[in-house]
Parts: sequence; structure tokens; C-alpha cells
Amino acid sequence: MQLVPISLPGKQSLNRPADGVMGCGVMSSSSPRFLHDLGFAEVEAALQADGVRAHHAKALWRAIQREGALDLAARDFSPPLQRWVAARVGEGREFCLDAPDLVREIHSGDGLTRKFLLRQRDGQETETVLMGYDGRHTACVSSQAGCAMGCVFCATGQMGFARHLRPGEIVAQVLYARRVLMATQAGRRLRNLVLMGMGEPLHNYDAVMHALDIISDVRGIGIGPSRISISTVGVVPGILRLAEEGRPYRLAVSLHGSTEEERSALVPASKKWPLAELIAACREYGRITGKRIFFEWTLIAGKNDSPDTARRLAELLRGIDSHVNLIPLNPTSGFDGRAADPGPGREFQRILLAAGFPCTFRQRRGIDVAAGCGQLKAEKVRRPAQAAEA
Ligand code: SAH
Ligand code: SF4
Repeated sequence: MQLVPISLPGKQSLNRPADGVMGCGVMSSSSPRFLHDLGFAEVEAALQADGVRAHHAKALWRAIQREGALDLAARDFSPPLQRWVAARVGEGREFCLDAPDLVREIHSGDGLTRKFLLRQRDGQETETVLMGYDGRHTACVSSQAGCAMGCVFCATGQMGFARHLRPGEIVAQVLYARRVLMATQAGRRLRNLVLMGMGEPLHNYDAVMHALDIISDVRGIGIGPSRISISTVGVVPGILRLAEEGRPYRLAVSLHGSTEEERSALVPASKKWPLAELIAACREYGRITGKRIFFEWTLIAGKNDSPDTARRLAELLRGIDSHVNLIPLNPTSGFDGRAADPGPGREFQRILLAAGFPCTFRQRRGIDVAAGCGQLKAEKVRRPAQAAEA
């Protein structure tokens, strides 16, 4: 995409991306609002504010959130809605749509994992993954551009924090994945969503919850709340808030260490929310919600893969309804650790199973496409020449 200088009245010239028909490249005095940020009731309110009856929200919402339309001007809406769209949506108008541009797309060798590097309106790039295994299709989306948590083995952590994503930018990733699924495997539905892309979802709590309200609304994308997983590095206040607010989603907690020392060497956020506090919060979450917690464990040779560590982990989780997901480390340029060998990995799993905890290995699905969190973007930063060709 080219950068086109645009003169704004009364302001100095800015470089903003050129936009398509539904973009808001030339801005009026106020910033545009994004239709993907709006829940159903907010769309109704926006129409009503302009004297359009609320019942027209249904067709508008359907076009945006169910059909994933990117050009509302071409839709066969009722005349009042058509007039509203013509007056309100598009370049220089009050509203526009989130339509991230594809920067790069890669597929795994087996074709079942497709990864997209998407450019947001301000040039920030985030990753979205579409996975299709066992007939189930899952989107993995980002919640932030970069991440402030700095986990040493994670490519996103290594690049630092840029900004939070808006709800619409999260919703638009799901719509993007859905569009690809429909184009490549017509008839298949996107049934599952995981917030395991770039960023820490509970560091961007309000935007993420608003996005999930929109994504799970049956009038739109309609992914069932029990098929949506939020993965957190262990933001204690966020975990407690999820429980207190009765949020219906699944919770995954990335643990990676069985003692404070072991954990904080890998996860600096553990200094802010220590392991003991995190486990207490998980117990409280389980007590309030009665729900199982999924614990993520990236297995790193010599760091957190010993039988003693597995036994300590089993002790820590005692009394919590838990499922442990073991993830072999995906190598990243900023960390010289390596994945646990199969032997110690299997022994780790055996100890947890023997202690009564369901424990499964997450396949490194699509390691050949740099499927680890943040790795596609990191790769582009490292290899700008190749990326520019892509
Ligand atoms: N910030 C959230 C969600 C995004 S990361 C969190 O940390 O949970 C999603 C998962 O990928 C986390 O469990 C994280 O520890 C894991 N992960 C990140 N980089 C990885 C890597 N290089 N190899 C294996 N797992 C990784
Ligand atoms: Fe952030 Fe999660 Fe990566 Fe840690 S693992 S740096 S919390 S994205």
C-alpha cells in the first residue's frame, strides 16, 4: 500500500494510507468511528440518532457482522438505510469499516494452518491464524500490536508493546478468517476462537470483552461463548474480573514455571503477579465459576521440563479443576532455549496424568510457517528484503 500525503484543513499535511471506497482516508475535523466497534444496540442508536428507525439495524448488522461486507454502498438495503450509508459511511464521513490489508500469508506444508500478517489502518501489523483440524476450524487472533509482558521465549514479547487493538480490529480479524474459510472451503463454519495471537488479552480487557460480545452475538458471527478461549499470562485482576462478571468464555492461563524463580526467569510479569497470587486467583476463579481452567506450559529443555517440576506443578494445581496443555517451544531469534526432548516431555505428561490431571500435547501445528505467536512479524522485521517481495 502506498502512503499518500493528504492536506487537512487547518492542519499540517499528514501521511495517511490511501483507502478504498469504504475507508476514511480523508478525515473530517473529528476522527472516524468504526462500525465494527459497535454492538447491535450501538448500531441501533447510531441509526436512531439520524432519524432512521432502529429496525434497520438488523440488515446493517447482518451485512457487516454476518456476511462480512466490505462495501456497504453496493448492498441492496432498504431506501432509508441506503441513504444513511451514503451519507454516513465512507471516506471523509463519520463511520468507516475495519478492513485490514494482507501483508503476507503463509501456509503450513499440510495446508491446514494459514497465517496472515494483517496491516491495521495506522500501519501496525498483527497476526491472525486460521487452523482446520479434525473438521473443526479455529481462528487465533491478536489482542494487541506487540505485548508489554516480555516473556523471554515469545517473539511478540521480544518486540515490545505498540498499542492495544480496538474491539473492531479484533472482530475484523475473525471476519477475515471467516472470509478465507468461506472462499477456500465453502460450507465450513468457523466454530472456535482463541485469543492466543499477539498480545495479552487481559491487559486490553474492556476492548477484548466488547469484541467478544460482538463476536458471540448470534445475529452476527455467532461463535458460541464456550468455544471462545482467552489465554492470559496471568493478569490476576483480569482473572478475578472475568469470574466476578460471569464472563462465559474459557480461560487458559500460561504458567510455564512451578516456583517463583523458575517462572519469573521466563515470564517477567510474574514479578508483578507472583505465582502464589496467580494460583490463589485461579482457585477463586474456579470457586466462583465452577469452570475448568486450561494451563498452558511451554516445555523448554533444562528450564521447566524436569520430573521435579512436573511434581511441583501437580502439587500447585491440587484442588483446581485443571487441564494442562504442553506446548513444545517454537524457536525464536531472541531466545536460545530449545524445545524439551520427547523423553522428558512424555515423562512430564505421565507425572501429571498419574496425579489425576488431564494433560495433552499441543501439536506444533505449522511450525514450518512460523506459527508461534508473533513469529511471522518478527521474521519480516529480520528479513525486510524478502518480506517486501512477499
Ligand atoms: N498473552 C497470552 C496469549 C498469547 S500467547 C498468553 O501469554 O497466554 C499464547 C500462548 O503461546 C501462550 O501460552 C504462550 O506462552 C505461548 N507461546 C508464546 N511464544 C511461544 C513459543 N515461542 N513457543 C511455544 N509457545 C509459545
Ligand atoms: Fe505477551 Fe503472551 Fe507473548 Fe508473554 S507469551 S509476551 S504475554 S503474547
